[in-house]
Parts: sequence; structure tokens; C-alpha cells
Amino acid sequence: MARPYLGNPKYTIEVLQKYHFVFQKRFGQNFLIDEHVLEKIIESSGITKDDFILEIGPGIGTMTQYLAEAAREVAAVEIDSSLIPILKDTLKDWDNVSVINNDILKTDIKKIADEKNGGKPVKVVANLPYYITTPIIMGLFEKNVPVDSITVMVQKEVADRMQVGPGTKDYGALSLAVQYYAKPEIVANVPPNCFMPRPKVGSAVIKLTRYEKPPVDVKDEGLMFRLIRASFNQRRKTLVNGIRNSGDFSLSKDEIEDVFNRCDLPLNIRGEALTLEQFAMLANCIYDEKKLIYDKRKKSPGSCSGFFLRFRTGMLERFPVRIYISS
Ligand code: SAM
Repeated sequence: MARPYLGNPKYTIEVLQKYHFVFQKRFGQNFLIDEHVLEKIIESSGITKDDFILEIGPGIGTMTQYLAEAAREVAAVEIDSSLIPILKDTLKDWDNVSVINNDILKTDIKKIADEKNGGKPVKVVANLPYYITTPIIMGLFEKNVPVDSITVMVQKEVADRMQVGPGTKDYGALSLAVQYYAKPEIVANVPPNCFMPRPKVGSAVIKLTRYEKPPVDVKDEGLMFRLIRASFNQRRKTLVNGIRNSGDFSLSKDEIEDVFNRCDLPLNIRGEALTLEQFAMLANCIYDEKKLIYDKRKKSPGSCSGFFLRFRTGMLERFPVRIYISS
């Protein structure tokens, strides 16, 4: 097998000129031209000769060459069809690589893992197109794709958001979602001059090692993520108000406050101060409260609940009511 040769400006420019390649901004094309960064990515992703690797966006095949050297097999999904003939050329010396010309967001990754890796967890390694970093990563977690780890180059600011905890400005829904599924670790900061063309922002390589089992127990995952969304959609509001205003939980203010008291959370706390464990605990308390209300309603068949409309301050509002009909 040949040695990887593309990780430097000279050969990258040669290939780009040979094929008269025109960079497509809309595809987030910033190709790596630094051997040290490429070696760092390969080393931190912990690839062995047993591994099957999914690469997202191979570009002209720079990192693909390194991956093909280190792994048993590589599948690389590239959206830009003008790169396909180039990849055929730059990867011709490696027989363990297949290139799939498709949009990663429309690719059945589970099927690829089944066919190429017998359904066993794959390692994902990529210099991601920054415009779709979050949908790619959340898609890998939420669609139950068998993934062992994800080692990716992303915008520095996004890497920070994935890694931080409560009480920092970067902490938000992405931090909690990522940390529910995986252990994040920033393994390198990468300056713009390591890419062609140079991006306007700094970059970082982050490794997300998937947990076999999430670090917290939640009775209803969907409910916890709705709670997290409600909390960060109105960052400046207290969490009690965030939950009320979201209209997503069918709980009155009193019921929400009951839940907070039971969880030992101050009523004026903001979502940005809660850890993942506290979000899980709160979601479980809301789950229990809703179940309690539902059971009570079932036991008193003469009751029903819904919304009335009322005019207040000249605005039409809806407010929750429960009506009890005694026989
Ligand atoms: N891996 C190469 C490197 O490091 O030099 C290129 C990385 S470049 C930041 C991102 C790559 O992702 C580009 O090749 C781009 O065409 C590709 N891409 C963008 N959107 C994509 C999508 N939705 N599905 C698959 N590939 C995509």
C-alpha cells in the first residue's frame, strides 16, 4: 500500500489544479493540509486494524488515506459529485475504501454498519462540514446507529458547547444532549491555517465516546429533552416560567411548583444552573406528577379537564381548568 501523501499544501494544490476543482462554500469545504493534525486525529480516535470506519465528507480523500492505512475498512460518504472522480484517483492505492456519493443526512448508516461491520459499533471520524455539525451528531445518537466513538473536527465554539457544564455561557441543550449519550473530550485545538481555504473561525477536534448506558436514569427520554428545550428556549426566565410558557407539559403553575418542591429545587432557579442529573430528576418528578394527575382523573370519572379562553389585558388567553361533576 502507498503512504498517505495528501496532508500538505503542495499535493493538495496539485490535485485541485489537475481536476480544476472549485470549492463549494455551501458544502462547508475546508480541506485539511496539516500532517500533524491528521496524525493527531488518527491517534486520538484509537483506530485499530479491526475497525470499520465511517468518514463523513472525505473531500479529496486526505484523511481517508490516513484512515485506510490505520483501519480494516473505511466507508466515506461525500455529497459533492464533482469530488467522486478525484477520490477514485487519490484512493486508488487503497483497496479497503468505498466511497458513497450521498448526503449523510439521507444515508442509512445503520444499514452500512450492518452490511460492512456485521451490525457491530463503528467508529466515526471526520472533518465535518460545519453547517450541519449538530444534525449529524444528534442523528448518529438518536437514530440508534451502532456507534462506538465519534472523533470529529468541528468549530471550536461548538466543541466547547458540547463539553461544558452548568454555569457557563456555552452551556445549553447541545451540551446536555451530547453528555447524555457520550463522554466528550476536546483533543486538539486547530487554527485556520491548517485548512484550505482558511475558515473564518477556530476549530477543534472532539472525541465523543458513546456510553453503553446513559449516565442518568430517565423514565421518559422525550420528556427530559422537551424539558431541556423549554429551559433553554427561554434562557433568561426561571425554569418554572419556562415550563409554563412552553405549554408542552399540561401542568398548572401550582403543580409545577409542587414538582420543584419535591425535587428540592428553588422556584427561581434557571435551567442553565441545572446539571444533567438534576434535569433527569426533574423529568422523573414531572413524569410521576402527570401520572398521579392522570390516575386521579381516572378514579373520578365525573371530572374532565381542558382549556377555557378568557380575555385579559385585551388579549385572548387560554388557561387550564379541571371540572368536577358530582352526581
Ligand atoms: N475530509 C476532508 C478534509 O479533511 O480535507 C474534507 C472536509 S470538508 C470540511 C467537509 C466535506 O464534507 C466536504 O468534502 C463536503 O463536500 C462534504 N459534505 C458537505 N455536506 C455534506 C453532506 N450533507 N453529506 C456528505 N458530505 C458532505
